[in-house]
Amino acid sequence: MKDKSSRRDFLALGLAFPASAVASTSFSGLTGAPAPKPALQSGGLSYRVLGKTGMKVTTVGFGCMITSDPSVIEKAADLGINYFDTARGYQGGNNERMVGAALKARRNSLFVSTKTGAGTKQEALDHLETSLRELGTDHVDVWHLHGKGRASQLTDDLMEAQRVAKQQGKIRFCGVSTHNGHAEIAKTLIEKKDHFDVWLVSYNFTMEPAMQGLVESVAKAGLGVVAMKVMAGGFRRVRQGDKLFDTLKREGAMLAALKWAIKDPNVHTTIPSITDMEQLEENMRAMTSPFGKSDETLLAAQLERIGPLYCRMCGQCDAKCPKGLPVADMLRYLSYADGYGQYGLGRESFLALPAEIRDVRCGDCTYCSVRCPYGVKVAERLARAQDLFA
Ligand code: SF4
Ligand code: SF4
Repeated sequence: MKDKSSRRDFLALGLAFPASAVASTSFSGLTGAPAPKPALQSGGLSYRVLGKTGMKVTTVGFGCMITSDPSVIEKAADLGINYFDTARGYQGGNNERMVGAALKARRNSLFVSTKTGAGTKQEALDHLETSLRELGTDHVDVWHLHGKGRASQLTDDLMEAQRVAKQQGKIRFCGVSTHNGHAEIAKTLIEKKDHFDVWLVSYNFTMEPAMQGLVESVAKAGLGVVAMKVMAGGFRRVRQGDKLFDTLKREGAMLAALKWAIKDPNVHTTIPSITDMEQLEENMRAMTSPFGKSDETLLAAQLERIGPLYCRMCGQCDAKCPKGLPVADMLRYLSYADGYGQYGLGRESFLALPAEIRDVRCGDCTYCSVRCPYGVKVAERLARAQDLFA
């Protein structure tokens, strides 16, 4: 069955949706959300419990993927942020070492998650040994199977690797990270809730209201929910003078986006990328400043501005390109460069695609059969990705 994150498909998959999640909204997801339960507040921090793990996590965590300055990570820990996310593959395999060094003195009072993109049990367990060595720890709190968008990717072999690692005390909890294919993965996680403990999922204000129901269903099944890509492309990296500045940069929009994710009581923590002290300071404010009318207005305007650029990873254009381009993935790679200022990561991801995909040029097509219902100019954006990365 094809996975699409539309309300119809969520319903077809038999997931329970709250009435609030299917309410019609003036624009995706900014209204009609369930009334938020206040997170527990303490000294400028707010906390929630990460589902059945019982971990009391700050609602703002730290996504370390593109951080190169360890002092920002240290400072975040000093300020009380207690959830840090990395992955075996980030920064060419070097990110874990930096994160481990930055957090070493505080390891026992913090939660660390990492991920493996391995395809087999043995490869995954080998990755885990490397992760533990690089992080300088004897266990990680959450170990994710990285970037799974199909139920068939959650193989018995990989789940067995997680079981073994848990038995050996090398991981505390089993997770899955998902960029697209949300409905299919959510259904599987709920079915296999005795095994999986945490879902790390792309979730932001640009998404269909039904996505809120999906997150709620997974949280209600007892899993912890960690939101990523909360900034919808991370366009905060765009600076005055940059070509995209006038189109994208609006003061306060990134803070509003983070607050939008936190106000959902089924999101237990978030892992926005943080690269400097200014961003850290801004993100800290999201824990004490509630989402209000002015945030809603800012996000509505932001949604309009990024519409032609930002892919919501809804999956509706899956398999629509006759040349086989993985449209959502390629648009994500482009957002690493355009939105996060991480050209290297974008290119590295692009170069990992099969050669026959890398060699396609959208400019050679006289007609593009991929239509995005949200207005992303697919052929134009992919041509830019090919120009930048190939
Ligand atoms: S390009 Fe549009 S249709 Fe395709 S995955 Fe992204 S948001 Fe969905
Ligand atoms: S323009 Fe690009 S995305 Fe569109 S059909 Fe051609 S190769 Fe596929």
